Amino acid sequence: MAAVIKEPGPDFANQGVLAYTERQGSVDVVKHSMGWIEVIVGPMFSGKSEELIRRLRRAEIGKQRVQIFKPVIDQRYTKNGIVSHSGLEIASELVASGSDILAKVAPRTEVVGIDEAQFLGDSVVEACVKLADMGKRVIVSGLDTDFLGRPFEPMPRLLAVAEEITKLLAICMQCGNPAVHTQRLVASEELIVVGASGMYEARCRRCFEPQLAHQKIEEQSSNSPETKAHAASS
Ligand code: ADP
Ligand code: ZN
Repeated sequence: MAAVIKEPGPDFANQGVLAYTERQGSVDVVKHSMGWIEVIVGPMFSGKSEELIRRLRRAEIGKQRVQIFKPVIDQRYTKNGIVSHSGLEIASELVASGSDILAKVAPRTEVVGIDEAQFLGDSVVEACVKLADMGKRVIVSGLDTDFLGRPFEPMPRLLAVAEEITKLLAICMQCGNPAVHTQRLVASEELIVVGASGMYEARCRRCFEPQLAHQKIEEQSSNSPETKAHAASS
């Protein structure tokens, strides 16, 4: 069991203990301004944004200097903030890549939050490592699998370099079991189709139908007027 330190006494101050948390099994004692990477993963609706916002709020309450980023591609609810499906909100800056984040992080920033990291490409891994090496606490959230249930790059690489990983589950919209998958409900085989309820739902491994998006494409093309005309003329 991880040691939980509640009251750092004078001895700790002398040893240079600069940060600690009460979460078990997590980064609990950090000395000499060392940085680290925390990753929050899971399917859509599993509470990743809520958890990210919770951690960032607490850092702000602790008077730490916090900067928060989200990808330009994800402007579902607001351009200026991360918004959870339950309506929690925190201000954020828009970025297109990991190098964009590195350019925007101020030297004095202590905590960096990144939402929807799966949309930022490979450069986000390099950026997180650099920021942690500089002594910053980096908290990143993102989808670990795509609409076909495949690992969603670059999240697997982020998991490999993280000090701490939190995997969240949603509730299956078909049967109520713990849901590990993001089910696409619309016809598209593109890797990235940004949307929320109506376009996606959480599904457990039993109810997950990875081929559904493909079937919908086939249904649509067989119902299209052109196909019907073609069928009528043949
Ligand atoms: P994520 O960032 O993982 O997509 P959010 O933090 O934005 O998730 O939203 C989580 C919230 O979504 C939950 O607290 C709950 O209010 C709501 N929600 C809607 N559908 C589901 C579901 N199928 N399972 C769990 N929570 C859901
Ligand atoms: Zn299910």
